[in-house]
Amino acid sequence: MRVWILLTLSLVCASARADPVRVFVGVPPLQTFVQGVGGRLVEAHSLVQPGQSPHVYEPTPRQVASLGSADLYVGIGIPFEAGQLPRIRAANPGLRVLDARQGIDLRRLEAHDHGHAQDGSAEDRVHRGDAGAARAELADMDPHVWTSPPLGKHIARAIRDALVEIDPANAAEYRANYERLAARLDRLDREIRARLDPLSRRRFMVYHPAWGYFADTYGLVQIPIEKAGKEPGPRSLAALVDQARREGVKVIFVQPQVASKAAEQVAAAIGGRVVVIDPLAADYEASLRRAAREIAEAAGQ
Ligand code: ZN
Repeated sequence: MRVWILLTLSLVCASARADPVRVFVGVPPLQTFVQGVGGRLVEAHSLVQPGQSPHVYEPTPRQVASLGSADLYVGIGIPFEAGQLPRIRAANPGLRVLDARQGIDLRRLEAHDHGHAQDGSAEDRVHRGDAGAARAELADMDPHVWTSPPLGKHIARAIRDALVEIDPANAAEYRANYERLAARLDRLDREIRARLDPLSRRRFMVYHPAWGYFADTYGLVQIPIEKAGKEPGPRSLAALVDQARREGVKVIFVQPQVASKAAEQVAAAIGGRVVVIDPLAADYEASLRRAAREIAEAAGQ
């Protein structure tokens, strides 16, 4: 009996890690989720740094070297993942990769489907998700899944499961941390919903279409200015100015990481203003609260 207890104890001790779990993520909001779930047990780094655009990001040699000894990479479809990541994985077979979009029914980017919002709630998206489907179409799909708090919760849950697999000795702590984070995200969701539900004007104009999942979750529609990652041509620009006038748009939203001359041009043409909201901020909750407040104010409420 005593031998068994000792044996069990030594097995538990052998499986406990001395070092924190080393995690890399694509963009800062995912780092916030990893820190929320992992707490003191993880060391989390974002490849894309504040101010950088994920769409044109290239990793530094130092980041590539660090990934060579990392435990987990949480991806979101930045170009690096299709480019260099397979080679890094081949060199570091211990690197587990979690795609944050996994299990989420991805929406199409507005720029590709002329502005038709898809229907279905964020929860529906999770449940209808099909991991194998639409691999080839992935490039056309909207990668900004984290901007919806219910989807943020789904991502945090997947991160929890990955950390539990990597570090089972601390499963209880990851689960407890996740529950706290999930409760905060639920509260954030309720607050944003309460602010946005009463809006009568439910469309907002944005330079880079990063807010599609946020818009879908709260029954709003984003009208992007950018066309397939580029500034619009003169004809598109004129059409957008007409549309903004017709819809009574007064505010054009931009984000710090994306240069957007056309946003200034549209704002000038309609006598409106440009307002910064940041879908990539590490302070996820504050950033989404601010976005909801600015969108409500732009709608005149
Ligand atoms: Zn983006």
